[in-house]
Amino acid sequence: MSYRKNFAVEPGEKVHLHKIDPSFTGKHESHQKAWPIIQKHVARMDKLQYLLYATSDQSLLVVLQALDAAGKDGVIRHLFSGMNPQGTSVFNFKKPSKDEAAHDFLWRAHLHTPSRGEIVIFNRSHYEDVLVVRVHNLAEKSVWSKRYDLINDFEMMLSSNGTRILKFFLHISSDEQLARFKQRLDDPIRNWKITDSDYSERELWPKYIEAYEDVLERTSTKIAPWYVIPANHKWFRDLAISEIIADTLDEIGLKLPPTHVNMDEIRNKYHDAEQKQAKQIDKASKA
Ligand code: ATP
Ligand code: MG
Repeated sequence: MSYRKNFAVEPGEKVHLHKIDPSFTGKHESHQKAWPIIQKHVARMDKLQYLLYATSDQSLLVVLQALDAAGKDGVIRHLFSGMNPQGTSVFNFKKPSKDEAAHDFLWRAHLHTPSRGEIVIFNRSHYEDVLVVRVHNLAEKSVWSKRYDLINDFEMMLSSNGTRILKFFLHISSDEQLARFKQRLDDPIRNWKITDSDYSERELWPKYIEAYEDVLERTSTKIAPWYVIPANHKWFRDLAISEIIADTLDEIGLKLPPTHVNMDEIRNKYHDAEQKQAKQIDKASKA
């Protein structure tokens, strides 16, 4: 079974998140058994990123959205750390700065979209403007309700400019979130991660789920699909996301760019001569 097919939200599909099991692991039994598969996908991703960078023709935008402690940071750490930093970057969407808030809501997203050859990961994204903004009434309904169409148009424009877009909603249960908050409280190394707002946001869980279900229904498109990833098991989350990203990049059919020079000529004209000279310098310095 392909996770790319199974976890994708069809355009216009109404998703009932409570009907999707966040603990799903399919045929995979344990982290130990899944680990080599994840490594294989990560190696494919790294190789494909190299080709994306070398061809510098298209780009990839990965959007990560989730409730607190669902593992956005873990995904970034586990799946993207092996990539060449020259062609990859992460942008974290925090509460908008004064400058950001003075512009339209897509401005900061657009500023950080990938250039050709690049992979950019949005840790949270422009979707916060129909999530936190809606749940906390930070804008009138008449304002945020227009944003779904604006987002679809924006993503269509990016897509027609050569950007592949993959959007992942990391789906955890309320119990799992509480257990992860507890780990953050108990483990001194993780203490810094816990805040008051994690608990106050948790109170708003049903409102967030409602807002997410609308996002999934209204903004999953052929060119920028949403995937609902069962994320109670961190290893399964990594397995599914790495498979989907590697399969998507594979589909592009990236190939090394053609060389524009005559390799034999360059080798004969410069390289062999340089090598000879280097040997002489080496010999002279040893003498
Ligand atoms: P962690 O899961 O590690 O806590 P995080 O993504 O929650 O990471 P924080 O710095 O805790 O990072 O939170 C960023 C906050 O900024 C979130 O509460 C998010 O909802 C908020 N935010 C992002 N975009 C907007 C926006 N457009 N308007 C208002 N708040 C926003
Ligand atoms: Mg947070």
